[in-house]
Amino acid sequence: MRSWKFWEGSTTDDKQADTDAAQSHSLPGRTAPVGEPIPQPVDTPAPKLTRDQAKQRLAALNRRREGILFDLDQAELATMPENPWRERIALYGETIKVVQSDIAALDREPHVSRPTLPTTPIQIETVAPDDPAVVAFDVGMVAFRYESEIDWAERGTTIARGELIRMTGDPAQLVPADMPAEFREELASHLDNSLFIFATDLRRLADEGEPFPDATLSDLAKPCPICGHWQSWGGFCAVCAERANRRRALEAEFMRISAEQSAEEDERAKWVERLPVARRRLADVDAEIALLLKL
Ligand SMILES: [Zn+2]
Repeated sequence: MRSWKFWEGSTTDDKQADTDAAQSHSLPGRTAPVGEPIPQPVDTPAPKLTRDQAKQRLAALNRRREGILFDLDQAELATMPENPWRERIALYGETIKVVQSDIAALDREPHVSRPTLPTTPIQIETVAPDDPAVVAFDVGMVAFRYESEIDWAERGTTIARGELIRMTGDPAQLVPADMPAEFREELASHLDNSLFIFATDLRRLADEGEPFPDATLSDLAKPCPICGHWQSWGGFCAVCAERANRRRALEAEFMRISAEQSAEEDERAKWVERLPVARRRLADVDAEIALLLKL
């Protein structure tokens, strides 16, 4: 007969075979000697391994078991009412609430009321668009003159134009005498910006050969229909623009945190899904280890 210990050679005498049978009667798949219980069949054929191979195999199985136990721990943790994922999800939830209330507060910012300005005519004197540009105009009795600064460092490398700089005229002089004290400084600062935008627009119009507008002082500071603050020349509202920027930033924050929150929930759900798999794998590896230990 052929020995089960195939690595010892295929030809052995009957005596050797008998010894083998006596030593290995517990090995699954072996026919039990007379008087011994008949081994139960197993699902998988028993591996025929040397002692060293069996030891290596056992060590590998134990390492695998450690990994499965870790998975099982995580998976069981993920099903608990309290776990690190749910803690982080709750924290993200708190942050989301704060961001939402910031957005709501932004939308609730009060509509202010600013007086309109007199329709004092603006007399355009000179508009020379090319560097060095000159834009000169009178607002009532106040003369303004803007000139472009020449950025020598940039010349020849870019086509960027020098920005207009106010050389003559004080915007504060345009603040009407009857303007309430609390608005005077705000208006002077607003007019400074609005006059710069107006001068830059005149330069652009001259450059494009377009006619100049009939403008008055009131066009430089019209109350914004949305927020009530003064708009600059051309209908630009700095307050609305700043609010829109803040809103965009808050919305981006909201999206980012919401995404992180659902990523946490996905991660938790993934662990929960792994629970039955981890249990099955543990049972499998335990069965395999038990089988090896019988060798
Ligand atoms: Zn506005």
